Amino acid sequence: MIQNKDDLARIITAESGKPLKEAQGEILYSANFLEWFSEEARRIYGDIISTPAKEKRALVLKQPLGVAVVITPWNFPSAMITRKVGAALAAGCTVVVKPAEDTPFSALALAELANQAGIPPGVYNVVPCSREKAKDVGKALCTDPLVSKISFTGSTATGKVLLRHAADSVKRVSMELGGLAPFIVFDSANVDQAVAGAMASKFRNSGQTCVCSNRFLVQRGIHDSFVKKFAEAIKTSLHVGNGFEEQTTQGPLINEKAVEKVEKHVSDALSKGATLVTGGKRHPLGNNFFEPTLLSNVTRDMLCSREETFGPLAPVIKFDTEEEAVAIANATDVGLAGYFYSQDLAQIWRVAEQLEVGMVGVNEGLLSSVECPFGGVKQSGLGREGSKYGIDEYLEVKYVCIGGL
Ligand code: ADP
Repeated sequence: MIQNKDDLARIITAESGKPLKEAQGEILYSANFLEWFSEEARRIYGDIISTPAKEKRALVLKQPLGVAVVITPWNFPSAMITRKVGAALAAGCTVVVKPAEDTPFSALALAELANQAGIPPGVYNVVPCSREKAKDVGKALCTDPLVSKISFTGSTATGKVLLRHAADSVKRVSMELGGLAPFIVFDSANVDQAVAGAMASKFRNSGQTCVCSNRFLVQRGIHDSFVKKFAEAIKTSLHVGNGFEEQTTQGPLINEKAVEKVEKHVSDALSKGATLVTGGKRHPLGNNFFEPTLLSNVTRDMLCSREETFGPLAPVIKFDTEEEAVAIANATDVGLAGYFYSQDLAQIWRVAEQLEVGMVGVNEGLLSSVECPFGGVKQSGLGREGSKYGIDEYLEVKYVCIGGL
């Protein structure tokens, strides 16, 4: 029996490895989505539209889409579910959740809480399955004619499979896919603020969030001081260890495949001329622990500049001009989050408008909150979650024309 939020946080740490403090933060974030959307449910307004026809009246009703399939990743085992399910239930939809194979217990814990809270049976449903079965279960759910909506958070590759499933019966979709977040530090930046932002945006959840900075672009004039301070911060403030231990800030990565990817990105960069500033290998603790790593002299052709690492690797690319930084930042087919540090107001406007991403952090490394729209452009996805916009993803707009008046 789950009795309080700490029980839920312990489940998250046990199944994802995330440090307990971060798991406790996630539980609040997760609960906030339910609270937010329970409030938004009262504001699903329709419209009355004026038309030139004297004998007619036009109305717009908002109606629930129906059954929503929710497929979620392991990196936020609770919050990625409530961000979707909160909106779906508030709109009047029922849901079938397929949680990630690495983290099914958080989804089942929410089912237990749904029972305790009096949510009627059949409204919140969970179908856990193994990695081997994900393809078949996903297909069965996403092609079922009774399902009207697919909401997915995960890799771009899987998102494309689900979009193909959706096509046959023309289901509504929300896709929150991968990113390659640039983190730009301009010469005018406050270097200490930039380092604090870099630490938060890179190393939260050991670098395993879809909005984690993937590429650090640093202007020549501030480059050396930024790299020096960033390295110091990494060495002094990060502690790799068991997520249940108080001092741990960096838990293990989710699985062996994840560690292999970070290793591959590091060795590829080093073989092409990058400089290892700190870290660079598996942690002495073994298993899936990896040292927080900083590389400098990184170039655009290296894997870590082109692919999402999803781990504790910070590669730094040096640049000279604003145009060059924006061009590097945008030279990718994904666009979820982007960050930059600058004290130049005109530059702040220019760059915020030019970055091809769905979310921009200006002098800020953490931007997720339930009140604000989360989502990407290009191949990072479709639709927005959280915020006043999130509920629309589960609503149909129905136009009613009343004639003969
Ligand atoms: P990751 O690489 O982070 O595991 P995935 O996109 O593979 O990202 O996984 C995110 C979610 O998508 C998980 O719940 C996983 O089980 C599910 N998934 C993976 N492949 C498929 C598929 N072919 N059909 C439906 N769901 C899938």
